Amino acid sequence: MAEPNLFGGIEAGGTKFLCGVADENGVVLDQIRIPTTTPDETLSAASAFFARAQGRHGPLAALSIGSFGPLSLRATAPDYGSITSTPKVGWSQIDLLGHFRQTLDVPMALDTDVNCAAVGELLFGSGRGLDTFCYVTIGTGIGVGLLIGGAPHGGANHPEAGHIRLPRAVGDQAFDGICPFHGDCLEGLASGPAIRARWGVPAEQLAPGHPAWGIIADYVAGLCASLTYIVRPDRIIIGGGVMQPVNMHEQVRASLERQLAGYDSSVAGLDMNTYVAAPSAGDSAGLTGALAMAYRMITRQWPMHWAIGAQQNAASTLAKVS
Ligand code: ADP
Ligand code: ZN
Repeated sequence: MAEPNLFGGIEAGGTKFLCGVADENGVVLDQIRIPTTTPDETLSAASAFFARAQGRHGPLAALSIGSFGPLSLRATAPDYGSITSTPKVGWSQIDLLGHFRQTLDVPMALDTDVNCAAVGELLFGSGRGLDTFCYVTIGTGIGVGLLIGGAPHGGANHPEAGHIRLPRAVGDQAFDGICPFHGDCLEGLASGPAIRARWGVPAEQLAPGHPAWGIIADYVAGLCASLTYIVRPDRIIIGGGVMQPVNMHEQVRASLERQLAGYDSSVAGLDMNTYVAAPSAGDSAGLTGALAMAYRMITRQWPMHWAIGAQQNAASTLAKVS
């Protein structure tokens, strides 16, 4: 029997599901963008896509899903493989893995959207050649993916580093924060919706010189300081809508340097320009990462050859799905 050589991936987002099938060289044979509506509608469309793709190209060897959360990721948990209690209406307690197991009898894995995006950055973007790095997104929520020693990190469950509490920034004492659980945790203070609640307009409409940006940069840098001391990564990659203004990374670098205060000597020597970077794997890093996780499930290694030989194919084809 021929070796199984097709891999399925899903980037499950609050707005859209991107599904793809790639061969062992990272050539994407089939892909689809499905709007996220109800779980029934969206998940049925996704399984119909994989049924069709298998009919055309042959059986999948594995399927990997990178999803918005929170997720239950401990294999022994009764709700393993599910989205747990998400604010996204209708999507709480949805058994993602269980749904796909009804129609696909292949090894499956589920991880966070941010861990999958980190893998996409490892192969095609700002994480290339690195062993340990963080992928941070500052958007509707704040999420952190961790590649540690070349492997996506998950413990008893996935980390929730967006919900840490940081010292309040100068000039930002009065706002209570919007996190339904913690009020003024990081996400409650620095996510896109928190900016809107505090300053009355969507973040993209705030003028470049608005004091909000210095405050948000201080919080994002506070997260980076914590990640630096807890993980000691080679790099922190920061993306998401709120990081789009041109000088945001620059402001975060300056604030991080102040917050680290030169401690310790290995940190004092960091080149902030490379230590804090923007993502560069394109909009489909999460899907690419999910496909690579499916590949790794079977072969036990990352498909580093996708990044070299098949970059044209995989990266450019995937980049068109958005
Ligand atoms: P999501 O987190 O929902 O996947 P994004 O990363 O695009 O998506 O984050 C959306 C948030 O980013 C919104 O709250 C929006 O106001 C904010 N945002 C989007 N574009 C910009 C921009 N150019 N400048 C500042 N904020 C932005
Ligand atoms: Zn919180």
